Amino acid sequence: MPGPVNCSALNGKTEVRLLLVEDDEQLAGSLKQELESSGYAVDVSANGVEAEYLGDEAVYDVAVLDLGLPDRSGSEVLHNWRSKGNTLPVIVLTARNAWHERVDGFKAGADDYLGKPFHTEELLARLSALLHRASQQPGGTLNACGLLLDEERQTVTTRDGQQKQLTGTEFRLLRYMLLHAGKVLSKSQLTEHIYDLDSDKDSNVIEVYIRRLRQILGDGSIETRRGQGYIFKVN
Ligand code: CA
Repeated sequence: MPGPVNCSALNGKTEVRLLLVEDDEQLAGSLKQELESSGYAVDVSANGVEAEYLGDEAVYDVAVLDLGLPDRSGSEVLHNWRSKGNTLPVIVLTARNAWHERVDGFKAGADDYLGKPFHTEELLARLSALLHRASQQPGGTLNACGLLLDEERQTVTTRDGQQKQLTGTEFRLLRYMLLHAGKVLSKSQLTEHIYDLDSDKDSNVIEVYIRRLRQILGDGSIETRRGQGYIFKVN
C-alpha cells in the first residue's frame, strides 16, 4: 500500500509546510534555516518548472516565490497555478523598488509581496498574517490528494484540472473522506457525518453517493472494503 504522500499534511497536522522558491543558493539556505527555527517545515526549489510541479502537489500551506527564476519565471509559475484553480497562498519576492514586478506579481495572483533585501522578521510577520487570512476565508477551499474542493461553489477540481459541480451531500461526503484519506470509513460513520441531524439516515444511500464520486474522480479513487466500509485512496 502506498504511503500517505499527498494527504499526510491533513492528518494530525502540526507544522506549517512552506515551499520556498529561490534560486539564490545563499539566500535560500539562510532563509530555510530561519524559517525552520520558527517552526515551518521548508522545502526549497531553485527553478520554476520544479516549483510549479511541487506547488500543485497540494501538500503546502504557503509558498514564498522569487520572480527571477531559471526555466520558468515566478510570475508564470503563479499564473499557471491560479489558472488551474490552485489557491495556495503566495508571497512574492521582488527586486527592491521594482514596482512593475509587484504589479506583475499581483496580476498573476500573489497574495502579498516583499521587496529584496528584507529582514526575515518581516517575512515571518507577513507569513503569519497571510496564513491567518487564508484560514479565515469564508467558504474556504480544501486542497488535498491532488483535488481542490471549493466550499462556496460546491465544486471539486480534479487532478486533470476539470471543475465538477457537486450536490451538498456529495460535497460533504467527499470532504469528509479527504480529511480521513487512507482510513477505513464505515457506512454508518459516513452517514453520521454527511446528513443534518434531523434528516432520515439511510446508510444504503451512501452507496449511491460513492458511485457518483467514483464517476467524477475515477473508479480507483475509492476502495470498497467488504463488510467494513470505504477508503479514499491516498494516491
Ligand atoms: Ca532570483
